[in-house]
Amino acid sequence: KIKRQKHVKKTLKFYKTHFGIGPPFKILIDGTFCKVALHFQINIFEQMPKYLDCDVHLSTTNCALAECSTFGFRHDLPLYGVYKVISQYSVVECGHKNPLSPSECLLRMAKKNVGYFVATQDQKLSASVRSLHAVPLLYISHKSINLEAPSLPSKHLAQQKEIVKFNLSEQEQKQLNDFKEATIDKDAIKPKRKKIKGPNPLSCKKKKAKPVDVNGINKRHRKRKR
Ligand SMILES: [Zn+2]
Repeated sequence: KIKRQKHVKKTLKFYKTHFGIGPPFKILIDGTFCKVALHFQINIFEQMPKYLDCDVHLSTTNCALAECSTFGFRHDLPLYGVYKVISQYSVVECGHKNPLSPSECLLRMAKKNVGYFVATQDQKLSASVRSLHAVPLLYISHKSINLEAPSLPSKHLAQQKEIVKFNLSEQEQKQLNDFKEATIDKDAIKPKRKKIKGPNPLSCKKKKAKPVDVNGINKRHRKRKR
């Protein structure tokens, strides 16, 4: 559980640092996410802010809601439960007059607006979200909500921003990366140096020369004779 919290903190910090995405988080949820949450009895309203450890704004789009409504507006329809869940969220006006598939709609919204999280179980949508910059992805696995680590395009863009920040040329950035890698590898491989035991020679005082009297006899020696 601690590992989970660390992972979330680290990932959220990444999005905050490089893309300025901070709380309250705007989360776009589709029907597939609601369906799996329902299946595992995950209360998204409760669990989402708990997992991300801050305020969240749960929403969906017209198109996603429309699909769930079509297959769930009546209690004998297959998406009845899903529709009940998703209709609790606020609806983002996506402006698609002819409803798109929810995955296409959410993808366009995430592309157009900075700072949206996407919560889905749709594999195709997940893959598309990963190809975007700075769109955090939420999914359910192991009966709980999970935040995916930043995708490669996000990481690359963050790195590009660093280059601009430090005014490095790409060549210089490459050199810096090589340097970082080299130092990391060395430290990992290098065995620990054995410590030399014994007192520190620098902290040892020189032995005082024994006082010798005129006759060449040790004073202490003479004292004992008495
Ligand atoms: Zn739409």
